[in-house]
Amino acid sequence: MAERDRLERKLLRAAARAIQDFDLIGAGDRILVAVSGGKDSLTLLRVLQLLQARSPVKFGLVAVNLDQGQPGFPAALLRRHLESTGVEHVMLRQDTYSIVRRLVPPGKTACPVCSRLRRGILYNAAVELGCTRIALGHHRDDLVETLLLSALYSGALKSMPPKLHSADGRNVVIRPLCYAAEEDIAAYARELAFPVIPCDLCGSQPQLRRRRVKELLAELAAEHPAVKGNLLHALGKVVPTHLLDRDLLARLGEARGADPWIEEDEGAAAGGCAEDAPVVPLNLAAVPGAGDSE
Ligand code: SF4
Repeated sequence: MAERDRLERKLLRAAARAIQDFDLIGAGDRILVAVSGGKDSLTLLRVLQLLQARSPVKFGLVAVNLDQGQPGFPAALLRRHLESTGVEHVMLRQDTYSIVRRLVPPGKTACPVCSRLRRGILYNAAVELGCTRIALGHHRDDLVETLLLSALYSGALKSMPPKLHSADGRNVVIRPLCYAAEEDIAAYARELAFPVIPCDLCGSQPQLRRRRVKELLAELAAEHPAVKGNLLHALGKVVPTHLLDRDLLARLGEARGADPWIEEDEGAAAGGCAEDAPVVPLNLAAVPGAGDSE
């Protein structure tokens, strides 16, 4: 019980901080919580229910599960769990599994197509259910893995946004667990004996590159436990003048009304100790076009 309480406090603190830092939830919001049945989304639902009960800001929750037609998907088990939580819930069923099998050649990873189809269905469901937010269970490890995947394999420095307006303006996606460590979520899900449904019922192989990056991070974290936390911290401490994004630098220069490099530290630019370098936080609000809309 003590361990469960400790984890719960830690997860609540992480979620509350993310909600505050990125203005994820406001009074009157009705939040569609996407519950796949995995440990992350089951934890997300529980955390949001606890915050709902404790917060002076009044918001609504509706848990939505999408049964995508994977063989053996235990919809009844998940329904029973959602009923036990007392939350308003909706069980949807659309056979995207067959579509994915048709579209994706054998041996290729199906996750990108599968998740795109799922996202479209959830976006429509949110509108139909009158939801102002869609909450997803991505956590710190998802964010730092995505950062490395993007940098290593796509050549772009980006991760998963804590808040994102859909391109058509109909939906707002939020990630309240973006500061929460996967190991805490997994331990909490075990403590509460959540009926976790694995995401491999579809028979798809995990994405090899993501698995490799996960292994790499685990190796580094074994040598230096702060590695993942530091990467997450790095996402919030961008030093734009020490990167090579000329568009960003131009916008930063416009916002400052000056050459963006002028106030930088010469020691750091000359290869000085990174720990001594001043961190210039990027004020996204002051940079036109650098908000969180797609
Ligand atoms: S593992 Fe299967 S169900 Fe999960 S996202 Fe990938 S294809 Fe879809």
